[in-house]
Amino acid sequence: MRTRIFRCLAVVGLLAITLWTQAGTVYTPASVPDPKVNGQHCYVSNPDALLADSDVVWLNNCAYQLDQQTHVELCVAALWSIGDMDAFEFAYELFQRWGIGRVNQNTGVLMLFVYESHDIRIMTGTGIEGVLTDGRCSDIIHDDMIPAFRAGDYGGGLCLGALRIYDICSKGETPEELLAMRSTTYRGKYAEASSNDNDENDDWPILIWIAVIVAAIIGWVKSILWLDEHPKCPICKKRKKSKVLKKVTLVNANYDHGGNGYNECFCAACNHNWTAKWETAKLTRSSSSSSSSSSSRSYRSSSSSRGSWGGGSTSGGGAGAKW
Ligand SMILES: [Zn+2]
Repeated sequence: MRTRIFRCLAVVGLLAITLWTQAGTVYTPASVPDPKVNGQHCYVSNPDALLADSDVVWLNNCAYQLDQQTHVELCVAALWSIGDMDAFEFAYELFQRWGIGRVNQNTGVLMLFVYESHDIRIMTGTGIEGVLTDGRCSDIIHDDMIPAFRAGDYGGGLCLGALRIYDICSKGETPEELLAMRSTTYRGKYAEASSNDNDENDDWPILIWIAVIVAAIIGWVKSILWLDEHPKCPICKKRKKSKVLKKVTLVNANYDHGGNGYNECFCAACNHNWTAKWETAKLTRSSSSSSSSSSSRSYRSSSSSRGSWGGGSTSGGGAGAKW
């Protein structure tokens, strides 16, 4: 009996691990890893590795040049989950907490991408909202970013958004090298994809995997329970028609000693009756294992020294949508 409980606990543990690896971290504005810790040239917070390295490199390059050319400080945060928090509230708090944009000029821009809730939000500093208006932010989100997100290319969507922001803030003076990397081919690709609207197929492989995992776990639990109920017959060595008639516990396990007892078993294949003794280990007090925080997951640090945001603020301008 006790062994079965342990087996079930093992199953629950495995399930929890499966769910844990499926679900990512839930962030608060205070717990988002600040990219500036890794150096002044870092503008992208990508703690869940939702964006490919190549996209992060491109975004950092784009944001750095934007910073140098127009004094607009662009920050990108791509997060798995913000829990129940509203995306606007989250973006606003993160913006003010970090102080995105140069102090006094307030030319900061935050692009917040949330995977779980499908939120995308562009938030503008008070000094840039006259140029990067709410309407323009909304256009960027709906024309460029959402089609890419729906095609599963989160990094590509954020790069396109950054490029449009660059274009507007620099009044069309975007460097050729940036334009070349995210050229019209990119836009054309997603324009086509969204008009065909075959994004239902994208969910297929994930659903199949989940179904396979669930089926495997159910099968495993069933087989464990089945083995417990059908002990091997000592005469005909079969399990199929054997069963436990009665379980008798002689000694319950405690912290000082193990437990023991016997099962009365019967095999219908050869009409054999027998008793099978069993023993269980003594109980152990579970030491509360402090789980280390998972926020360090795949957050790469470079060798450069710590940088900082400019100290700008926002009054909540910009736009947001669900993709
Ligand atoms: Zn038998």
